[in-house]
Amino acid sequence: MKKLITIIVPAFNEEESLPSTIERLNKLATSQPKYNFEFLFVNDGSRDKTAEILNDLATQNGHVSVINFSRNFGKEIAVAAGIDHAQGDAIVMMDADGQEPPELIPEMIKWWEKGYDDVYARRHVRADSRLRKFNSAAYYRTLQKMTRVPIQIDTGDFRLLDKKCIMALRQCHEVSRQNKALFSWIGYKKKEITYDQKPRQVGETKWHFGFLSAGNSLFNLAIDGFTSFTTLPLRYITVAGLAALLIDFIYLVVVIIRACLGLSQDAGFNTLLIIILLMGGIELIAMGILGEYVGRTFNEAKHRPLYLIQDMHQAKFESKETKDGRDKASK
Ligand code: UDP
Ligand code: MG
Repeated sequence: MKKLITIIVPAFNEEESLPSTIERLNKLATSQPKYNFEFLFVNDGSRDKTAEILNDLATQNGHVSVINFSRNFGKEIAVAAGIDHAQGDAIVMMDADGQEPPELIPEMIKWWEKGYDDVYARRHVRADSRLRKFNSAAYYRTLQKMTRVPIQIDTGDFRLLDKKCIMALRQCHEVSRQNKALFSWIGYKKKEITYDQKPRQVGETKWHFGFLSAGNSLFNLAIDGFTSFTTLPLRYITVAGLAALLIDFIYLVVVIIRACLGLSQDAGFNTLLIIILLMGGIELIAMGILGEYVGRTFNEAKHRPLYLIQDMHQAKFESKETKDGRDKASK
């Protein structure tokens, strides 16, 4: 009985990239005859021809499964849907734009066969803009200091996960998701391999740095990462409050002593203004941080489904149970 590997590919407006990605995946399948492959595409509410391309592909190719979302839910959720519906003994996640080479998958499989549960690909060369690389490095360094979960640096979602990890991830239902945080959080035996990331061939990145936007903003992703890894920022607020109180107390003592000694007191209008603005700023930031956590609690408390499916096509594979059943029947 061949092992089945599900390749999960989230796709949002990827009509231009899909043909070459599909071709590369087919090549992979023919180069690995020892395994069965399921190609599971999650069409994340695309507005171009992505759905048509994928639905056509599913009718022609028996290894292709397609999930069409009812609207755009975002990449993190698309990957979650892939994890929920994957039929494989292992899954590999990759983007539709060909930035992550499917040619690396045989090496991932090799390490999986050696007993690793999570074989992740680290970008030796990263094709993103300088600003994005800098932000990303600083972000993960800070985050690592705030959690005891080891975080994989320079790693995207491109990785192979064993069934154990799939079962673990299916138990994580959070709406504010950052998959990378979850992959780190679940633990299991991890193995790093490296690759050189190529620039996007066609189409453009779906991410932006938008600070106040709800869409595919890297800023939102970053905060989701923080709030899903650690509640330490809340502790920092307490520490900042204590520090302000201490400084205030010292100042109070100084003022009392000066009054007792009959020394002149500063009129101090400027000092007052600076301190009021400083404290106001700190308080608002503190409320903002608190708000991020409260807002996420609110979203989770709604218990809405993570995603809604418009329609779905699942490839049929012979499962171990049916095969065992048939073997027994024929005996
Ligand atoms: N994607 C998605 N839903 C979205 C945005 C992106 O499914 O709302 C998919 C996209 O089609 C691609 C992958 O996520 O397969 C990564 O997106 P992109 O290449 O734009 O991100 P980058 O490589 O710049 O991180
Ligand atoms: Mg990309």
